[in-house]
Amino acid sequence: MNVCIVGTGYVGLVTAACLSEMGNHVRCVDANPKVVETLRAGRIHIFEPGLEDLVRRNTAEGRLTFTDSLAEGLSFDGDGAEFAFVCVGTPEGADGTCDLCYVDAVAAEIGRTVSRPLIVVNKSTVPVGTADRVRAILDRELSARGMDVDVDVVSNPEFLKEGDAVKDFMKPDRVIVGTENPRSAEMLKALYAPFARSREKLIIMGVKSAEMTKYAANCMLATKISFINEVANICERVGADVSEVRLGIGSDHRIGYDFIYPGVGYGGSCFPKDVKAFLGTARQAGYEAGLIDAVDQVNARQKLVLAHKVLRHFEPLGGVAGKTLALWGLAFKANTDDIREAPALAIIRELTARGMRVRAFDPVARERAQAELAADPLVELVAEQYQALDGADALAVVTDWNQFRNPDFAGMARKLAHKVVFDGRNLYQPELLARFGLKHYGIGR
Ligand code: NAD
Repeated sequence: MNVCIVGTGYVGLVTAACLSEMGNHVRCVDANPKVVETLRAGRIHIFEPGLEDLVRRNTAEGRLTFTDSLAEGLSFDGDGAEFAFVCVGTPEGADGTCDLCYVDAVAAEIGRTVSRPLIVVNKSTVPVGTADRVRAILDRELSARGMDVDVDVVSNPEFLKEGDAVKDFMKPDRVIVGTENPRSAEMLKALYAPFARSREKLIIMGVKSAEMTKYAANCMLATKISFINEVANICERVGADVSEVRLGIGSDHRIGYDFIYPGVGYGGSCFPKDVKAFLGTARQAGYEAGLIDAVDQVNARQKLVLAHKVLRHFEPLGGVAGKTLALWGLAFKANTDDIREAPALAIIRELTARGMRVRAFDPVARERAQAELAADPLVELVAEQYQALDGADALAVVTDWNQFRNPDFAGMARKLAHKVVFDGRNLYQPELLARFGLKHYGIGR
C-alpha cells in the first residue's frame, strides 16, 4: 500500500519505518527542513532503540522516502497515497487544553492538495470531536477548489512508549481504529494485518470512542503513578516502606505490579498534556473531573519531592547555596532523549533558584537538555557519569537508566563531600549504601 506520513517525530517516524518494513511504500513529510535533511542523509534526529537500522534498511530498499512537500508525499509515481497519517504534535495550549494548530494546518494542506480518494488517519493524540473538525476543514478546502474527492477521516490513536517504540508498534497490545465507514475499516485492517495477527488485537469502534480511548488510557496510567506516589508520601510520614507496600498490593491480580513504581512524578510529551487536555474536554462538556484534577496536582507536587529532600538535608548545614549537586538522568525516563516536562528540569530549576550548582549527566539527553538549560550559569552538563561527581557534595538520581542501577558505590563515596544520595527512583538499598558510608534518601521509605 502507499502511505503518506505527515510529521516524522517519535510517532511518525516509527510508524513510517514499521509500515515500510512490512513492504508498504511510505513517504514521510515534515515541515522542518532540518529533520528532512537529517533523515535523507541516513541519520535520525531522535534517540529510539532499533529505529535507525529500520529507517536505513527501508530507505536503502527504496520503500521509505522523505520530503518537506505534502504534494510529493501524497503522490506515488502516478498513483496516489491510500492513507495520510497525521502524526504532528498536539501540545498543551495556553489554557491547558489541546492546541490543534498543527493538526488544523495539516488538514487544510491536505484539502488544498488532494486529488484522489484518501483516508486521513488521525494518529496524533486529539480530543473527542477532532475527526469531525478535520472533516470540516477538508470539506471547506475542497469546496473552495470546487473539488469533489472521496476523503474519509478515521481515528487511530497511537499507544507506543518512547524507548520501546519499535517493539510496541511491531507487537502492539491492541490497535484501535475509530470509524463508521466499513471500507475504511477494511483498508486499515489490511494495513495493520501484519501487526495485529490475532483478530482481537484490532478493535474497531466509533470515532469518538477511539479518540476517548487514548485519553482514558493515558489518564489511567497517570492515575496509577500519582496513586502510588501519594501512598509513598504517606508511607514516609508513618514509617512504612512503599517498596514493601508495592509488592503487597501488586500481588492482587486486579491491581498488578506494573506502573506502581513510586518516583519523581511523570513527565514526557504525553501524560502531562493529555491529563490536562482530558480535564479541558470534561470541563467543556460541563463536567468537573475531580479525580483527574487530583492526579495532575499530585504529580506537580511530586516533581519537587526530591528537591525538597535536598533542601531539608542541607538546611542545618548552611543551606544549598554554593553547594554542588551531581545529578544523574535528565530524560523524563530511561531509554529516551526526550526531556519534555522532565522532572529533572523542575528539580534543577528549584535548586539553582536557591543558589545550588548542578553537574548533570545523561547517557543520551545531554544535547537536548543543553538547549533547555544553557541560560542557567549554575548548571553544567558533563559527558561522563562519574565526572558529574567531581567536586560534588551530593548525588541525585532522577532517571532509571540501567547504568545507574549498580554503580561504583566506593567511588561515589570517595568523591561526594557530603556522602549523601537522593534516590528519586528507589534504585538502591539504604543498607547497601550505608556499608559505603553513604546516606540514602529514597521515595516513600
Ligand atoms: P514530535 O514533536 O516528535 O513530532 C512532530 C513532528 O511533526 C515534528 O517533526 C514537526 O516538525 C512535524 N510537523 C509539525 N507541523 C507539521 C506540518 N504542518 N507538516 C508536516 N510536519 C509537521 O511529536 P511526537 O512525540 O511524535 O507526537 C506526535 C503526536 O503523537 C502527539 O499528538 C502525541 O501526543 C502523540 N503521541 C506521542 C507519543 C510519544 O511517545 N511521543 C506516543 C503516543 C502518541
